[in-house]
Amino acid sequence: MKVILQNLTKKFPARGRKAQGEVIAVNDFNFEIPDGKLIGLLGPSGCGKSTALNLLCGLLKPTEGRIFFGDDDVTDLAPEKREVGMVFQNYALYPHLTVLQNILFPLQNLKGSDKLSKEEMQKKAYEVAKLVQIDTLMERKPSELSGGQQQRVAIARALVKMPRILLMDEPLSNLDARLRLQTREEIRRIQKETKITTVFVTHDQEEAMSISDMIVLMKDGVIQQIGEPQEVYDNPHNLFVAQFLGNPPINIFSGSVKGGKLYIGESAVLDLKGIPDQEVTVGIRPEGFLLKEDGALACKLGGVEVMGRDISVVFTHQASDSQAIRAIVSAESQVNLASAQVRFDLKPGKVFVFNKKTEERIY
Ligand code: ADP
Ligand code: MG
Repeated sequence: MKVILQNLTKKFPARGRKAQGEVIAVNDFNFEIPDGKLIGLLGPSGCGKSTALNLLCGLLKPTEGRIFFGDDDVTDLAPEKREVGMVFQNYALYPHLTVLQNILFPLQNLKGSDKLSKEEMQKKAYEVAKLVQIDTLMERKPSELSGGQQQRVAIARALVKMPRILLMDEPLSNLDARLRLQTREEIRRIQKETKITTVFVTHDQEEAMSISDMIVLMKDGVIQQIGEPQEVYDNPHNLFVAQFLGNPPINIFSGSVKGGKLYIGESAVLDLKGIPDQEVTVGIRPEGFLLKEDGALACKLGGVEVMGRDISVVFTHQASDSQAIRAIVSAESQVNLASAQVRFDLKPGKVFVFNKKTEERIY
């Protein structure tokens, strides 16, 4: 089922004596989620992700705009009529019910022609339980399950009615690091098998990048960029996007463009033909540095961190506020730790140049 958001806006009235104006939690969203895809709705805490999700499931009414599921305008439809499955961070299972009873719960409320027999309900519950691999735990109570298993039950419960859309709000946040990795692979597998159009909300860029067909990156209620994860990483439209994606994060320098060359400090580091002279902000991905004895950029060596396959060279430069600029180079590289200086050439595709004021990308 494709989903269309049209001029979708949600404003909240200001609260408290000192508060001024209103909060625009979701500001004029316009995009289409293709049928069967998994969309990662990504951004820092407070940027409006949950609000957007709650508009989609109908728990919130938009201030302006429309929502379509396929050709159906669902904007004024009550949540229970939208046929969406919801999964939350805190699982929200019924503690006094078994796994089976939790999964059956949404089916027991079906009315009229949708009403199912006991056998049909059991069959459906076991089918989804198998899909999320908890069919051997059906008689347990939630308290007898690990966090990862509880979240699987919540996913099974959201899927048992075969929703038109699956909405997940930070579903992995309560899991430890290893389970988080495992469960996100699982969610991806389940989504691919069921082909249910899914919106997955997270503040974790790595999570969104690894799981999504398409990411929607937002800030302060405004969409910053939409695209395939790698495409957005390789081609950020502004400084915020460049800084939000990537771990270790992109390194930021002040620089200038003079006579078709990019300068960082006194060093000309890159040819930038056709860009007018100006002060700029420069972002360099950690993988954008090439160790070279006569490299264009001279930096003050801080140290080296070995991380298995790669090593991370840590340094400073007077044109950067960072106390730990990071370059990721291959483990075979020789870094002379006795030297106070380290020099790099830059890989052009890994260097982004932004307008100093607007922070829009100019190269
Ligand atoms: P996120 O899920 O990305 O962390 P939210 O969607 O929860 O962000 O919130 C977005 C913004 O809207 C925040 O500034 C938040 O304080 C505000 N907000 C959310 N819900 C309400 C509400 N019911 N009343 C007033 N302001 C709200
Ligand atoms: Mg939220």
